Amino acid sequence: MSDNCLFCKIVQGQIPAAKIYEDDEILAFADINPQAPTHFLVIPKRHLAGPGAVAEADQALIGKVMRVGAEIAKERRVDSFRFVVNNGAAAGQTVFHFHLHVLGGRPLAWPPG
Ligand code: AMP
Ligand code: ZN
Repeated sequence: MSDNCLFCKIVQGQIPAAKIYEDDEILAFADINPQAPTHFLVIPKRHLAGPGAVAEADQALIGKVMRVGAEIAKERRVDSFRFVVNNGAAAGQTVFHFHLHVLGGRPLAWPPG
């Protein structure tokens, strides 16, 4: 738990979220401002600021975040999807708790802006 971290507050139940999946290590919930018909976030419950803060000890946890993100997409019959993880404000990161965006359900352009 990191003070004033929005996603830690969601993990703690202090702020509501539309939860999709939860276990002892990770949480998936709908993005509040969806950018595609499917847009949800998968986070480790333990506070990690972003991909730049991932240590060797976190590798399995982050791998699980990706596996669960793909499984949820599959369950929703979204075969084509994109994973996005922003690191740093200039890359678009606004919440400094690691989160995997899973986007799909429409054609996605490349490169991103
Ligand atoms: P990023 O810009 O990569 O840091 O992504 C942060 C994401 O969190 C954005 O897509 C926001 O729409 C989303 N977000 C912010 N607040 C909430 C919230 N309370 N519940 C769900 N998603 C949120
Ligand atoms: Zn946090």
